[in-house]
Amino acid sequence: MAKFKLRLNKGIKILFILLFLFNISEISAQLIIEGLHFADGKPVQVSVRDGKIEKIKRIKKLSDENNNLIIAPGFFDNQVNGFAGVSFSFGTSNLTKEGIQKATRELWKKGVTTYLPTLTTNSHDLLVENFKILAESVDAKNLLGSIPGFHLEGPYINPEDGYRGAHPKQFVKLPNWDEFIEMYKASGEKIVQVTIAPEMEGVQKFIKKCAELGIVIAVGHHNAGKEQLDLAVQNGAKISTHLGNGCANMINRHRNPLWPQLANNDLMISIICDGFHLLPEEIQVFYNVKGPDKTIITSDVTSYAALEPGEYKTQTGETIELTPEGMLRYPAQNVLYGSASPITKGVGHIMKVTGCSLSDAVQMASTNPANLYGLKDRGIMEPGKRADLILFTLEDFNVKIAKTYVKGELVYDISK
Ligand SMILES: [Zn+2]
Repeated sequence: MAKFKLRLNKGIKILFILLFLFNISEISAQLIIEGLHFADGKPVQVSVRDGKIEKIKRIKKLSDENNNLIIAPGFFDNQVNGFAGVSFSFGTSNLTKEGIQKATRELWKKGVTTYLPTLTTNSHDLLVENFKILAESVDAKNLLGSIPGFHLEGPYINPEDGYRGAHPKQFVKLPNWDEFIEMYKASGEKIVQVTIAPEMEGVQKFIKKCAELGIVIAVGHHNAGKEQLDLAVQNGAKISTHLGNGCANMINRHRNPLWPQLANNDLMISIICDGFHLLPEEIQVFYNVKGPDKTIITSDVTSYAALEPGEYKTQTGETIELTPEGMLRYPAQNVLYGSASPITKGVGHIMKVTGCSLSDAVQMASTNPANLYGLKDRGIMEPGKRADLILFTLEDFNVKIAKTYVKGELVYDISK
């Protein structure tokens, strides 16, 4: 009997030790992040466990009052052609697993925690090849789920100068479903958005088929009239790609592609808010018409972002220019060649030109894109969501990222 009691005591002791150790590991797995809530500027404590937000608690003041950083969900950019010397669209030389990781890490530094690598008009073989490389790379653990899918912009767009933008004419074509499916399969069925021109032959049928696969159809680089545009929306088109750009310089004042897109209440818009692509009054009008629920801030950022100003030769031989102010031009056609600013700049810029709140700007840079692609695990700062969190200052409409967490992991800290 005495022996049994002794054993029992020993057993209880071991049990307590195990419980104690279990608790220690539990505590260490929890992360507390403090900041000023982006929606109202009041201090909050966000508990993170296993990569997700566990709890958000209002507190009287921040533990470190000198560290007055705003906390918000990470930004989501649906149009990233490349970044920091890595291109998703042109050539394959720098599109490697390491290249994708480099671009992702550099975007994290800008507060972009989710993005869609965007492949623009190019040869079919090259698009298939690049989709394959991307598909094989995006599930890498160290990307922390930052790339949920891809955006194909073109090649089924309007071939006319101006509408085509900087997309190479020789590869612009009418839709071909078999070819598209080849790209879709190469992408691991991860093409989540296709940008097309609704007025081109066969495109309406193409939209319907994409909608059946759950792919978001965007209209862009097009000259669609009202009927074609409304039909595209009926068939499943959901958003305009960079409204106000990918459009000819000279258009009819009545019959042009802008009015139907603004008039259709079922169509969202994405706009490039880098300070170069649209005039302040254009952004104001677009925002006044669509509002924060139907607007997405996008970047159209290219591999030339974060490089030194100067002239560069593209893989297809065109000369482009990155000005010291950060404008990326294609002088041969006097059009812009995508952007050099991540959406981080757009968040401040849209507040400046429209007078919208930070809360609205975050909705347009984080929540709306996540909702559009049905990604329910991100885009909002609330319990149960991925702990994709950014801490930043906002001075004179400039968002400056101080810390970025992706899936609860600190991936960028300005002080280190
Ligand atoms: Zn474009």
